Amino acid sequence: MTDTAPVLLAYLASSLLFILGLKQMSHPRTAVRGIVLAIVGMVVAIGVTLLSSSITGYTFIIIGILVGTGLGAYLAIKVEMTEMPQMVGLLNGLGGGASTLVAWADLSLSGSHTLDSLIAVGASGLIGTVTFWGSLVAYAKLQEWKQFKKPFSLPQQPLINALILVVALVLVGMMCVSHGMVQVIWFLLLLIAASALGLFLVLPIGGADMPVVISLMNSYSGLAGAATGFVIENNALIIAGSLVGASGVILTQIMCKAMNRSLANVMFGTMAGGGEIADADEVYKNVRSTSPDDVAMILEGAQRVVFVPGYGMAVAQAQHAVRDLSKLLESRGCNVEYAIHPVAGRMPGHMNVLLAEADISYDKLKEMDEINPTLETVDVAIVIGANDVVNPVARTDPNSPIAGMPIIDVDKCRAVIVVKRSLSPGFAGIPNPLFALPNTLMLYADGQQAVLDIVKALKEM
Ligand code: NDP
Repeated sequence: MTDTAPVLLAYLASSLLFILGLKQMSHPRTAVRGIVLAIVGMVVAIGVTLLSSSITGYTFIIIGILVGTGLGAYLAIKVEMTEMPQMVGLLNGLGGGASTLVAWADLSLSGSHTLDSLIAVGASGLIGTVTFWGSLVAYAKLQEWKQFKKPFSLPQQPLINALILVVALVLVGMMCVSHGMVQVIWFLLLLIAASALGLFLVLPIGGADMPVVISLMNSYSGLAGAATGFVIENNALIIAGSLVGASGVILTQIMCKAMNRSLANVMFGTMAGGGEIADADEVYKNVRSTSPDDVAMILEGAQRVVFVPGYGMAVAQAQHAVRDLSKLLESRGCNVEYAIHPVAGRMPGHMNVLLAEADISYDKLKEMDEINPTLETVDVAIVIGANDVVNPVARTDPNSPIAGMPIIDVDKCRAVIVVKRSLSPGFAGIPNPLFALPNTLMLYADGQQAVLDIVKALKEM
């Protein structure tokens, strides 16, 4: 069906809204406005499509909208902030599955197809199904389902995956040169091959690398959507899918760069470096611990304090207590900032979202590159639940698994307080010599309780 001029203009408007929305989402201050713009764009696109003269009945559409809206609203309300990565994973998977179903329906129900549209059907089925199964496995891993916790791979897995991809491409070719029912059978065989590929791509990857996989799947779901746009000749879907595809790739690249790992490195389950891991007993020989009262005393005379949050702050849900401590310090004339590492936590922007939730002003959140050159003038750095992102071996040991990963150089601050429950390692599984430096004191406690105790001690002074 060829769209009329008003329909094309409406699709163009919705595409512009998506682009403006994405632009605004790139900064925390404008992110909410960006999301609203993208929602308006989507409402325009769906509204115009619903008015299309090619729709023969509304019953199934209304049922679909009601079920989808109900489930989406329920999940959005129920899901905890720490479960957001798996929620996004699930949505990517459903997007991929929807693309496959639309391609299948188009192949079975529409009459004749041109070669172009058959290639689009094949691409949509292949990428959509890989996304569907890959995202479901990623979801199961992030939910820590027992059966999926351990990475699983067959011997020569990359070779097997390459072979399955070749088979899938041959099946697309067979589908393009056949007709009628045979064509549909080739398509269904393609879906089986793509399902195996989706499973084998993600099953071997460790649970902690899932955020990178999810952003990659996000990109795939966009590509599947764009391919489906070509199948049903819908310009808005082509543009929206391409935008999702491109932004997913960019996000994946940002995450890999911040972890100093290549995408291949993540996909094949190894970390950078891979040298000997230092003996923890040896590294931690000179560790000194402290108490909330002593920390309060150190903070009393501080002029400049920097908080460095990490995954443990999310686990402890300490962001509100941290805000209260900041306010107390500021009321005593101290300058307080937050040093944000791009991969602190377990998903991009994890720390920004938590701190924003506690109403901490964006101006106080400093990117790693901005704050690092100034850390020598910081009186006290409070590292709360962060480990790998402040580990100086990234700078000093070229054989370390995190060699070359940019870190927040807290070891350069005058005094460092590290709040965590024990000396156990972070995500990378390696000891952190920061904890044993002469200017570092360890405060062993749950992140939230520790900060509440420091606030109490400071108020009593
Ligand atoms: P880490 O995983 O290095 O360390 C977190 C620390 O938090 C642990 O050492 C743990 O120590 C502590 N902790 C856990 N629970 C609590 C609690 N209740 N109270 C206080 N402390 C607690 O976290 P970072 O944020 O420093 O680094 C993130 C890591 O995750 C990096 O290696 C990064 O590459 C990786 N990663 C990040 C992604 C992202 O998108 N952000 C994606 C994929 C991986 P203890 O048990 O002793 O308390």
